[in-house]
Amino acid sequence: MKQRPSFPARLDTTLAKNRPNAHGVPAPAKAAAPTTQTSAAPAGVSKNANAAKPAAPQGHGMESSAVRARMVQKLAAGGITDAHVLAAMGTIERHRFVDSALINQAYEDTSLPIGLGQTISKPGVVSRMLELLRNGHSGKLGRVLEIGTGCGYQAAVLSCLATEVYSIERLRGLHDRARDNLRHLRLPNLHLLFGDGMVGYPKGAPYAAIIAAAGGEAVPQAWVDQLAVGGRLVAPVVTMGAPGAAGSAQALLVLDKTAQGVRQTILEAVHFVPLKSGVA
Ligand code: SAH
Repeated sequence: MKQRPSFPARLDTTLAKNRPNAHGVPAPAKAAAPTTQTSAAPAGVSKNANAAKPAAPQGHGMESSAVRARMVQKLAAGGITDAHVLAAMGTIERHRFVDSALINQAYEDTSLPIGLGQTISKPGVVSRMLELLRNGHSGKLGRVLEIGTGCGYQAAVLSCLATEVYSIERLRGLHDRARDNLRHLRLPNLHLLFGDGMVGYPKGAPYAAIIAAAGGEAVPQAWVDQLAVGGRLVAPVVTMGAPGAAGSAQALLVLDKTAQGVRQTILEAVHFVPLKSGVA
C-alpha cells in the first residue's frame, strides 16, 4: 500500500491532467485499501475537475428541470419530507449517469443497470437513505463516507448535502466511469477513491455519516470505528441467507453511534447488490 498524505488530503487540480489513467489506461489493481492512481497524486483521492464537458446526448428532453421536478414531486408524495434531500434530488441530473439506451427511464423510480453487474439505486431508495442519513440535521452534514460509488449518482447528490464526500468503489471500471460521469459537475468536495470499502477510509475519519450502497452480512467494524460519536450510518444488511444468494433478504439498517455505544434499528426490506471484499 502506498503511503497516504495526512488528512485533509491536498487536492491539486493540476494532477488530474497528469494521471496516467486520464487516457483510459487501466492501472493494475493491487492494493485492497483505497489507493490513488499515480504516485504523484494525493493518495486515495481522484479529482473531478479540469475536463471538457462530456457530450451528453441531446434532444431527449431530459435537460429540462421539469422532469426532475416531477420526480421530486413523486418522492415527496411517497413520503420524503426533508427539503434538503428533495432539493438535491432536483438538482443532480440522473440521466447523465445512466447508459444512453436507458435515458428515457432515468427519472422513473426504478433501479437501472450501470455495467459490471451493478445497478444505480431507485430515486425513492436513494432519497429515503439520504433522509435517514441527514436525520433532520439543520444544515449540511460534515464529512461523509460512501461505500459503493457505482456510477457516481448518489455521490453527486451527497455532495449537495455534506461539506466533504469520500466515495469508495472496488471495481476499477466503475470508479473510472463515475469519474467520467462526474467530470462535468466539477464538485470540489467530492473525492473518489478506488479500493475496498470494507475497510472504510481511515484518513477521512471521523465521519459525520457513512452510507453503503451494497449489502453485507454485518456492518464492518471499521465503519463503526470511523463513525464520529453522534454520527449515523445507513446501510443495507443481509437478514436472511448469504449476500447475493438466491432467496436472501436484506433490510435497511440505521446505526447511531453515541457516547454510550451503538444503537441499531432495522427498517424496511431493500434489495442491493452484495458487499464484496477486495478490488477487481
Ligand atoms: N450509489 C451507487 C450505487 C452503486 S451499486 C450509484 O449511485 O450508482 C453498489 C456498488 O457498491 C457497486 O458498484 C459495487 O461494486 C460496490 N461495492 C460492493 N462492495 C464494495 C466494497 N467492499 N467497497 C467498495 N465498493 C463496493
